[in-house]
Amino acid sequence: MSIEHHPDESLLTGYAAGTLDLGRHIAVATHLAACADCQKAVSLFTEVGGALFADLSPAPMGEGAFVALSAKLDTIAPPRASIAAPPSLPVAGLPAFVRRYNAGKWRMVAPGLSMRPIHLPVPSAARVFLLKSAPGAKLRHHTHAGTELTCVIEGGFSHDGGHFGPGDFDFGDSGINHQPTVDPGADCLCLVAMEGHLRLTGWLGALLTPLVRL
Ligand SMILES: [Zn+2]
Repeated sequence: MSIEHHPDESLLTGYAAGTLDLGRHIAVATHLAACADCQKAVSLFTEVGGALFADLSPAPMGEGAFVALSAKLDTIAPPRASIAAPPSLPVAGLPAFVRRYNAGKWRMVAPGLSMRPIHLPVPSAARVFLLKSAPGAKLRHHTHAGTELTCVIEGGFSHDGGHFGPGDFDFGDSGINHQPTVDPGADCLCLVAMEGHLRLTGWLGALLTPLVRL
């Protein structure tokens, strides 16, 4: 499996420093579970950050620090009860700590497109969900009220930014108006961390947006 699309440096350093909200932390962690190169970069950033911190005097914790710390602790020491319990989200490709989160039911948001919300244990600017699209599905041109971080788990899709397969990471925001097409032959399953809501563009999009609950 070759991964071509990675989170940018600001996301990787934010992940290493623990300053991302939990939604974005999860999107980056899902990519890291598949990408040895970004794992190495994060280790390096963590080491450099640790060396710098060693010389500093104590300061108040950043806003995202508690969230990141709880997620990290979760990855290291799962609560005793959850060891025996089966994971709520038995999806290979998700980081182990995410598989233990509770999830809602699958629901259709548009023809050929379903989503399953993941309930986060702490508040987060970005909500997180699994998104499943049917083979060959063509999503309408859309943009975002905030950022949208997508990590492919199975299958793939293409848009004018290239082809995205398992492990690939896609960044979207209000400045990007794209129209993904899902690969033929298999469903595409992605983890998405999204701020705000998706907005379909064009005159037809304006009519359809209220019908697409994403
Ligand atoms: Zn990577």
